[in-house]
Amino acid sequence: MSIEVKDLSYVYSPGTPYAAAALNGVSITVNEGDFLGIIGKTGSGKSTFIQHLNALIKLQSGSIKVYDVDLTQKKPDLKKLRGTVGMVMQYPEYQLFDETVEKDVGYGPKNLGLSEEEIKCRVKEAVELVGLNYKEVADRSPFELSGGQKRRVAIAGVIAMRPRVLILDEPTAGLDPRGKKDIMSLVKRLKETSSPTIIIISHDMDAVAENCDKVALFSEGKIQAVGSPREVFYDANALALAEMDVPSVVKIARELQKKGVSLQGKPVTREELVEAIRRWRDE
Ligand code: ADP
Ligand code: MG
Repeated sequence: MSIEVKDLSYVYSPGTPYAAAALNGVSITVNEGDFLGIIGKTGSGKSTFIQHLNALIKLQSGSIKVYDVDLTQKKPDLKKLRGTVGMVMQYPEYQLFDETVEKDVGYGPKNLGLSEEEIKCRVKEAVELVGLNYKEVADRSPFELSGGQKRRVAIAGVIAMRPRVLILDEPTAGLDPRGKKDIMSLVKRLKETSSPTIIIISHDMDAVAENCDKVALFSEGKIQAVGSPREVFYDANALALAEMDVPSVVKIARELQKKGVSLQGKPVTREELVEAIRRWRDE
């Protein structure tokens, strides 16, 4: 177990005319090694939920434990928490600020109080991990880089902290199809190399189906369904309630079903679809 959330509720500006309920009794366990996809309509509470996990938002009601940091305690160890949970916010490139890529990526490690040597080593490693050439970009201003490169630099700044849990809020938003693909393969690589547990908010159902091993479907501040992609993407009731689309593979399977072709095994990935069609043909 790495993260345990119980009965989490949250209201923005409570007790004012602007009060807005954002979460309403969310409970979920994230295990070490999970690749969790969070899906749901805009306004369903996804960002509010993940921002609780590194205490960017203060707990109002319910409980959250991240490894041994208990956020219900009076003074939780936030330094430890933020060393454990890395957060890549939406459009993280807007948070770049330093004059060189080297300094920007090194900002977090510097705050951890690491030696110059260790900082440099981590920066180099993080920059290379996100697929940039350290020698080429280290001394450049992050503002001179392309959109996709900026986003990579911003992600490198989080990776350089070596978080055990990496959380990304719509990391592919606003990128072209090529950029989206690149960032998704980067996230997969990071899971294998640096952060064993990944939580990703995404509107790309195909990417979630292809990559995640667990899906949480948010709707109106609640988790409407949670389980494997197969369980969630074939839960027609929950999806309808949350007004959510399904991956294209599931759409194809539904269309085939209407035409009398019953595929076995509830495919959600392209590979599974091909396999299911092959089996149907050979029956
Ligand atoms: P999502 O990430 O799924 O789009 P959010 O967590 O951003 O959802 O929002 C959940 C609800 O909280 C929405 O109704 C939204 O309008 C509201 N909300 C989000 N941020 C704020 C804020 N800073 N102040 C007031 N209400 C907010
Ligand atoms: Mg959001």
